[in-house]
Amino acid sequence: MIGKFEPSSKICRVCGYHNCELKLKDREWKCPDCKTKRYRGINAAINIKKILIH
Ligand SMILES: [Zn+2]
Repeated sequence: MIGKFEPSSKICRVCGYHNCELKLKDREWKCPDCKTKRYRGINAAINIKKILIH
């Protein structure tokens, strides 16, 4: 379920892991679940696109 104000940049688009500990200054982070390296800007854009499609 995706809320209106879901911080999409904090969600791994591969496994859906929600990185609660992500800081605003962190431009990239590694998903502890699927080990994928996520870049905030790109990840957010993809998540927003997914939301719009659904
Ligand atoms: Zn992941």
